[in-house]
Amino acid sequence: MDAPAVFTDAEFYQRSFDPREYLKEFYSLSDSQGQPNTFLMQNLRSLFEMFSLEGVRGDTLIDVGCGPTIYQLLSACERFREIIALDYTDQNRRELEKWLKNEAGAFDWSPVVKYVCELEGDREKWAEKEEKLRKKVREVLKCDVTKANPTDPVSLPPADCLVSTLCLEAACKDLATFRSALRNVGALVKPGGHLVMVTVLGETYYAFNKQVFSCLRLERHMVEEAVEGAGFDVKFSEVQKCPADDVRADCESVLSLVARKRASITG
Ligand code: SAH
Repeated sequence: MDAPAVFTDAEFYQRSFDPREYLKEFYSLSDSQGQPNTFLMQNLRSLFEMFSLEGVRGDTLIDVGCGPTIYQLLSACERFREIIALDYTDQNRRELEKWLKNEAGAFDWSPVVKYVCELEGDREKWAEKEEKLRKKVREVLKCDVTKANPTDPVSLPPADCLVSTLCLEAACKDLATFRSALRNVGALVKPGGHLVMVTVLGETYYAFNKQVFSCLRLERHMVEEAVEGAGFDVKFSEVQKCPADDVRADCESVLSLVARKRASITG
């Protein structure tokens, strides 16, 4: 599979991104041959580690580009009182709400939740964690990270923390857009608050269900510089190799990053 010749924009996501197929392809703990999903397990471990760092806690957490997934909130929900999830596409927000409302036909996250509970020290607590997360997600709203106010016309009060996994590299057509998107979403965080990111590096596309989506090819320094440029100090940054020979994407590695917002852009 080759990278799409053109950038797949937000409207392409709205038309062509099938949340059920995405979840089936990327969020099972093991594939049809019984092979473990090392990409997911690695990211769950990183998220656990980042949401255990000192100071990464508070009242409100905003998830930017949540898609139809909850894995990125499983360790996070232990540290924040209230969560707001944002995504561009209607079908992804709808799929997430299905799980939040425990509706019939919602994706079964329990193997993933059990894995995270095991990391956190008690696999038996998985049902409790699911309930906790369902209660904490207060709203699921539309957003566009390329807008100065991503949730326009809604204005959200600045949050204590922002988490974003695998979104900005998909949503931005070039580095300038990526940098400005980080400033846009960075403005949703209070001074002294945190940004927690999981970003693929060296990827130009990912594919599932015979659809190919473009990805901005990033290097570690580009992400770190964009984060600094959005008014944050990088506190934690770790690169891990992507599993080799994955036909679904050409990702080289994954960057896990935590940054803290400065008191002011110049300060
Ligand atoms: N966070 C999830 C989903 C990542 S897929 C995960 O970790 O798996 C990329 C997501 O970015 C999709 O849900 C898509 O709807 C969203 N997206 C694409 N363009 C966007 C934009 N301009 N603004 C906000 N979200 C966007």
